[in-house]
Amino acid sequence: MKAVQYRKVGYAPEVVEVPVPEPGPGQVLLKVTAAGLCHSDLAVMGWPEEQFPYPLPLTLGHEGVGTVAALGAGVAGVVEGDEVAVYGPWGCGRCRACAEGRENSCPHAAGLGIMPPGLGSPGALAEYMLVDSARHLVPLGGLDPVRAAPLTDAGLTPYHALRRSLSKLVPGSTAVVVGVGGLGHLAVQMLRALTPARVIALDVSKEKLEFARTVGAHETLVSDAEAPARLRELTGGVGAEAVLDFVGAEATVAIAAASVAVAGDVTVVGIGGGTLAVGFGGALPFEVSACFPYWGSVPELLDVVALARQGLVSCHVETFSLEEAPAAYERLHAGEISGRAVVLPHG
Ligand code: NAD
Ligand code: ZN
Repeated sequence: MKAVQYRKVGYAPEVVEVPVPEPGPGQVLLKVTAAGLCHSDLAVMGWPEEQFPYPLPLTLGHEGVGTVAALGAGVAGVVEGDEVAVYGPWGCGRCRACAEGRENSCPHAAGLGIMPPGLGSPGALAEYMLVDSARHLVPLGGLDPVRAAPLTDAGLTPYHALRRSLSKLVPGSTAVVVGVGGLGHLAVQMLRALTPARVIALDVSKEKLEFARTVGAHETLVSDAEAPARLRELTGGVGAEAVLDFVGAEATVAIAAASVAVAGDVTVVGIGGGTLAVGFGGALPFEVSACFPYWGSVPELLDVVALARQGLVSCHVETFSLEEAPAAYERLHAGEISGRAVVLPHG
């Protein structure tokens, strides 16, 4: 089968021929219908050799949906032909966090060498993929698989990130979304669907700000050093009850810190390397809570799938063949993708 692999640190990913994997005990083989390209993949492919944490070659892709093609020994709960989405942040499956479905917070996964598909284990950018357990599979329930694939990360991650702020996003409040890409454009839609907050979106180009409005942002601002002052004007000096930063660079984290209201939330989702100083005498208003969330839980993925089935969120996608995946990553790197780039391994 064909797979898109990152093979050598510092080199572009390649389309290669590899054997179709066989499901071992407990595993499920999926025929991949669609796989989303995440900006995190670009971050991974930018890490230096001495810090690179995964075995190479690595089949990329941590957002996948597919059809159950074969079952390993002892698998129950799914049958061949089921259309499913893959929950990615696999945990040990035995601890308290995993029992609650919060496998993204499993404290044992790393120590046990359990790695998400596409982020250590072979991922979804291939004709077939292995999933380690049927408990990682969520039924699509008739959703269009192409639009559904990004829900597993570009949908799940912002949902998990903004849930902690829902009680603060009361009528009259403001939520800020910094970076209206794959994750951010779904965050805007979720904020509109789940809260009465005014949603203000920040990005760097006119096209992205127009896109933000088409997906539901009430206001848009160019993401620059002036943005916090403009945001204060728009909020009568108060600032935003929640700032969700989907870039996480030094500049955007500074914008978040300067835009948040007293007792508001700063949630840095983007892994751009920026850091926030928390504590008295720093730049933050009193009572602010800061968080850097990781992916989301299984129940939250069920919620996101339900939101999509209700038509309350819809991922904007641009589709590519497997052969086009390396070029699609280049376009993502250049900021030229609107919504999510999704690869269709079987056309
Ligand atoms: P994307 O490339 O689709 O979108 C990024 C958006 O940010 C683009 O619209 C871009 O124009 C905009 N942008 C770039 N610089 C900006 C700036 N200075 N100010 C405002 N906007 C700016 O990326 P994505 O796939 O949506 O991922 C977003 C971030 O989230 C990445 O850093 C990714 O690695 C990270 N991520 C984190 C998790 C997690 O669990 N914490 C999960 C998935 C992705
Ligand atoms: Zn991702």
